[in-house]
Amino acid sequence: MKKLITLITCAAMIMCLAGCGKTASGTAQAGVLVMATNAEFPPYEYHEGSAIVGIDAEIAAAIAEKMGCELQIEDIAFDAIIPEVTSGKADIGMAGMTVTEERMENVDFSTTYAIARQVVIVAEGSGITSLADLEGKTIGVQQGTTGDIYASEEFGDDHIERYAKGMEAVQALSQGKIDAVIIDNEPAKVFITENEGLIILDEAYADEEYAIAIKKGNTVLLDQINKALEELKADGTLDAIVAKYISAE
Ligand code: GLN
Repeated sequence: MKKLITLITCAAMIMCLAGCGKTASGTAQAGVLVMATNAEFPPYEYHEGSAIVGIDAEIAAAIAEKMGCELQIEDIAFDAIIPEVTSGKADIGMAGMTVTEERMENVDFSTTYAIARQVVIVAEGSGITSLADLEGKTIGVQQGTTGDIYASEEFGDDHIERYAKGMEAVQALSQGKIDAVIIDNEPAKVFITENEGLIILDEAYADEEYAIAIKKGNTVLLDQINKALEELKADGTLDAIVAKYISAE
């Protein structure tokens, strides 16, 4: 009996490994799940020594484990993530990425795994207390993000300063070079603790949801990712990962 169980376990393991193979799962490389990200976005992805850690990195690792794959993380510019996925160089794009209609024309998205919002950071005592006060001001954003897309459309290119990293926009704000930064709420909280004299406006700029980007039409991989996400939500793993990085308010 014991032997039989061992055999079954072994067969299950082999099937699991095969599940990450090129033909079986739709990942680009057998046994490897390549995640493209931009590790400048705490608490979702950031550098800790030589490692890339954070909520997305841990969720991706848990998904890869369920698929019997090894997770490989590629750290690239945020606006290079979708091209990396569409070209098939990366299997998934995971970077606190907001689901938008425009992005859905280029990639498929998994089910959403987080609710987020774009917020406005300003200097304490700046006189900017509401969204209406942003009119005519210079707003810093991270290039290619929804903050960039929405604010450029609403306030016009002349009023937008684009930075490669969100943290650089926040530093420019704290040096008085710009009047406000529009960025995702959780990184905003981290960045204002690292730069004194900044506050987040109570009024949110936009509500959004994060999901994982996958090459259009790769339904095999999409189904695997969604199934893994569903299991991680159901068994409390996802909540535990979030709680590790974000303290409850
Ligand atoms: N949520 C924003 C977007 O998808 C920003 C993501 C990021 O900077 N990593 O555009």
